[in-house]
Amino acid sequence: MNKKKKLTNASGRPYHENEDSMTAGRRGPVLLQDHYLHEKLAHFNRERIPERVVHAKGTGAFGTFKVTNDITRYTRAKLFSKVGNECRVFVRFSTVGGEKGSADTERDPRGFAVKFYTEDGNWDLVGNNTPVFFIKDPKKFPDFIHTQKRDPKTNLKSPTMIWDYWGLNPESLHQVMILFSDRGTPDGYRYMNGYGSHTFSMVNSKNERVWVKFHFKTMQGNRTLTGPQADEIRGKDPDYSQRDLVKAIEAGDYPKWALKIQVMTDEQARNFRWNPFDLTKVWPHGEYPLIDAGIMELNEIPENYFADVEQSAFAPSHTVDGIGLSPDKMLQGRIFAYPDAHRYRLGANYEQIPVNRPINPVHNYQRDGMMRVDGNQGDNPNYFPNSFDDIEADKAYREPPLKLDGDVADSFDRNENDDDHYSQPAALVNEVMTKQERENTVANIIASMKGICGPKKGEIIKRQLEHFEKMDPVFAKAVANGL
Ligand code: NDP
Repeated sequence: MNKKKKLTNASGRPYHENEDSMTAGRRGPVLLQDHYLHEKLAHFNRERIPERVVHAKGTGAFGTFKVTNDITRYTRAKLFSKVGNECRVFVRFSTVGGEKGSADTERDPRGFAVKFYTEDGNWDLVGNNTPVFFIKDPKKFPDFIHTQKRDPKTNLKSPTMIWDYWGLNPESLHQVMILFSDRGTPDGYRYMNGYGSHTFSMVNSKNERVWVKFHFKTMQGNRTLTGPQADEIRGKDPDYSQRDLVKAIEAGDYPKWALKIQVMTDEQARNFRWNPFDLTKVWPHGEYPLIDAGIMELNEIPENYFADVEQSAFAPSHTVDGIGLSPDKMLQGRIFAYPDAHRYRLGANYEQIPVNRPINPVHNYQRDGMMRVDGNQGDNPNYFPNSFDDIEADKAYREPPLKLDGDVADSFDRNENDDDHYSQPAALVNEVMTKQERENTVANIIASMKGICGPKKGEIIKRQLEHFEKMDPVFAKAVANGL
């Protein structure tokens, strides 16, 4: 018995010829009526969707998250309601600045985006492998990213653009120091931490709010590459991190991360010596200790990369009841920018693509649009209020009001804390890094700054050295000597 599947066209018609076009005579020409040929060529022309403008190169895996510690005093999120609760997750790891074909070992932050499929909707924790970021205001983001991409004339990456921007935006220094340490070139995705980075909030069953930071600590241990090792691998195996993750999971060696939170009360936030919503700052562990929440394991490589990884769409606005946003300006910018990017790349109905679809049913009054493939909510009313449906806007999901103070303005005079770009990177260099790590960081910075060129070279180098000097004179001297 012939058990083979039949070749068909896209509308399901079986047909017999996948190589030869229909021609008038053996030598051609091709007949216009060969619609099988048209379909094949036309679909091929449409295979690419817009590349993500950042985080284009990535890989992903499914897995599970299990709650290991009771944090119900902070959150009423159903996922955390009981120790032992589990949910499925999808994680996408990525580099940031490079194009889809770029090398995995580039010095770059790594994206660490987690989608928790919970009974109360999808919760996306869309972070990086670093706890801070280069800027603290979303209005700066497109300018900053342009400096990480290609020069508009030469189409080359440009250390001149990069260091010019960083020097003119000293709030970047903390992230720059992490980036140029060996943590800027992790040894694949399994051996790095992930951070929600922003300050988020949690709301408990008494409707009380605390501020929260999320940390995924790698249970494989942190492993990094030195600059020269990363450069060598870049040439030999540009897909190094993707290969490592796929190989490990296919071999049953499932990577795990421990999810931990830091918690700050509103009163502590008001008295914190830095702005607790500033994305260029961390909350010191000594003052805000890590609290266990759960363990995430990745154990399944998607069957189809395009379907699940390329079409995955994460958004910091995807929170669930009991986990909320904060005034962090970058977070506020990202809750607009991410869904906007998905609507551009994947269309208005991107949340119906299987990898993005919540496991609970969706009930609302949004209808139609390109690629509506989920039944469009059938014959349910598409307006509200109406006398027919049984959808309830449940007020139990209300968050407590948030008290604000201050005036509305788009530019305030800087205050002392906002201008402290130096003490946290200084703590990293002097209290966290070993001597070897410090030396590697200096060497990595020198290797990059040596690429600065053009008429402004002296000015750009001098400006950046002044920032290093304010952070730590010994470190600045080592860089200056090397240059
Ligand atoms: P701690 O000594 O308690 O913790 C230091 C942290 O730094 C650890 O989480 C460690 O991660 C991480 N780390 C080590 N080397 C590097 C590196 N090269 N780049 C980035 N992170 C690294 O310090 P504090 O909390 O008092 O903070 C001191 C400094 O540590 C901060 O100014 C910040 O630069 C850095 N840091 C702080 C974090 C925080 O949330 N408090 C998070 C990450 C960094 P691990 O334990 O996995 O080795």
